[in-house]
Amino acid sequence: MSEWLITLRKHRNYCLAERQRGFETNNSNSDEPVMYQYGAFSDLGTRIEYGSYCPLTCPIVKHGVMSAELTKNSKKHGLTWGHAADIQSKRTTELRSESEWYSRVNSDVLQGNLAKLDIAYNGFFQHKRGFPAFRKASNFKSFQFKPGQGKLTVNRSSNKKRCYSHVYFPGLGDMRYFDSRAIPIDADIRTVTVIKEADGWYMSVLLNLPESLPDVSDIETISSAVGIDVGINKLISLTDGSFVENPKFATNKKTRRQLRIRQRRVNRKVKGSKNRKKAGIIVAKLHKKIADKRNDHQWFAANKVVGTAAAIVQEDLNIKAMKSRCKPKRQKGRFMANGQSAKRGLNRSISDVSWGGLFSKIAWLALKAGKPVLSINPKFTSQECSACHNVSKTNRDGEKFICENCGHIDHADTQASRTILRRANLKFVTKDVKKLPADCGKVTLVRHDSASNGKQDQGKNRTSKVIPEKRILFEQLSLQLFN
Ligand SMILES: [Zn+2]
Repeated sequence: MSEWLITLRKHRNYCLAERQRGFETNNSNSDEPVMYQYGAFSDLGTRIEYGSYCPLTCPIVKHGVMSAELTKNSKKHGLTWGHAADIQSKRTTELRSESEWYSRVNSDVLQGNLAKLDIAYNGFFQHKRGFPAFRKASNFKSFQFKPGQGKLTVNRSSNKKRCYSHVYFPGLGDMRYFDSRAIPIDADIRTVTVIKEADGWYMSVLLNLPESLPDVSDIETISSAVGIDVGINKLISLTDGSFVENPKFATNKKTRRQLRIRQRRVNRKVKGSKNRKKAGIIVAKLHKKIADKRNDHQWFAANKVVGTAAAIVQEDLNIKAMKSRCKPKRQKGRFMANGQSAKRGLNRSISDVSWGGLFSKIAWLALKAGKPVLSINPKFTSQECSACHNVSKTNRDGEKFICENCGHIDHADTQASRTILRRANLKFVTKDVKKLPADCGKVTLVRHDSASNGKQDQGKNRTSKVIPEKRILFEQLSLQLFN
């Protein structure tokens, strides 16, 4: 499988280079392209298509000779030469008979690899994504089998006994895997993606389940809702006064020390040496373990939240902005202390607690349960009194919250979660339900958050929306492979 990854990566890079070269050598800036003329013209910067001469459809050039053969995609794009994807697809088939390395890889996996590059190309020109980059080994760790190719002898019973099962892949043979999750009896197994992780090989199974997701219940009809306040000391504070602790998987003292020591061992080894590589693997394994623990804890927390009420109200946090660096302070050309060294620890904690990962898990579980998730403007949620809506910085002292105005006393985080819940409340929010066309398949409730005594919110009406988007029900399973 490691050999496959190397071959597939080289295949991808080769195809990408060929397309770039083909484009550079075949196009000029005029409407009429001058064939075989080398030009510096490239519309990669401007993303402008000149007629049909865009990198998506340009021909592949071999030693200055353009392929004149028409392909099935040529007609579609109105070309007088072969379409790049078709030429490369054909070339890939030839490569399998020419090279032993290519012949070992399953042809559908190879073609799928090419199709992925095609998607990346389309993504750049049609959906304004980044330009496909050349991949190095550390950035190319998976390959995918087409539906029906990976044959799993799955334990489809619902009893939770864990066991080993077998899987057969064409070109790789039969191997054992740890059957960590039961696959439903009526599930249709689609693609199987094999992924190399720091501690072994995993496969991700795409399932097509016959039943569809339940409809997300209407905001008007729900009878209960829970507000959640996320933080660093307490991962989640709920409106009912309960908490989910944050075990700080990567930033606790013990793990920090362990990471520091293991990273130092890497840094002290000779660059490019085998020993450095080995030490690097040990660090990567620790990072993987931390991530696994965090994921497990987040699923636990998300399950708890979603099980509490019929709707979930959360903050619309801008995590990226929270993690931004402090602005540099300059005096007479010299850089002064700007507090970045103190902020670094906080940024690290924010990365470790991973609210984004938690929110996406909550969104998924809520979607499965048909519960709406609302997000509200997080401004001053920790300073606002949930009883009288007085906002003051001095209301809060650490974990204690004492309202200056009405004397309301509460735990600061619980208090914040109640404010969050109230902001989504029907009484205080003017609602504007926009009906979207049925085919967009998106449930969006636009709410104008003119919450509370809104002196701060005026002019900045942030809209909050239902988070989960309705999609076709596909579920990913991760199962670990053993050689
Ligand atoms: Zn108050």
